[in-house]
This record gives sequence, structure tokens and C-alpha cells, in this order.
Amino acid sequence: MQSTIVTKAEKARRYAQEPDRLRITVIEATFEAGGGSHVLCLGADGWACDCEFFVANDVCPHAEAASRMLDAHLVEAAKPRVVDLLAAS
Ligand SMILES: [Zn+2]
Repeated sequence: MQSTIVTKAEKARRYAQEPDRLRITVIEATFEAGGGSHVLCLGADGWACDCEFFVANDVCPHAEAASRMLDAHLVEAAKPRVVDLLAAS
């Protein structure tokens, strides 16, 4: 049993050095912004934020910043960019 625990612990440390193994698909988090905190969620439909800018534009600095923080662990569809609003306008 002890050798199994040691093997599993070694595997955990090795996996931790390989960030591509982890894909985040669901998140609920609080984002601390300059004017207060916002609730951020990531799910099957992408990001959602409770800020006014997100409600109006389906993207906001909080969702973009969170996706940048987690970049290595997200699929491309879960990486919103505020600057893309310029192309849509
Ligand atoms: Zn927001």
C-alpha cells in the first residue's frame, strides 16, 4: 500500500508540471475589480459576469482578465476579448 501511495504522489507531482493536462470547463468565481467585486461564471455557453458592461456586450474586462489568467487551461472559445467589440461595431 505504501508503494502505491508513493507512486500516486509521484504521479501527482509529475502531472502538476504538465499544465496541458488540465482543461477547465466550469467555474464560479468572484473577481475583485476596482469598484467592487463581480460574480464570474464559466459554463457550456462561455463566460457570464454580473457587471453592466457584460450584460450589454456579452464580454467584459473581468471575463477577459480571468480567461487570460487561466489561458493554458481553457479552450479557445472560452477566451473572450473586449477588443473584438471594435470589429463588431
Ligand atoms: Zn464583468
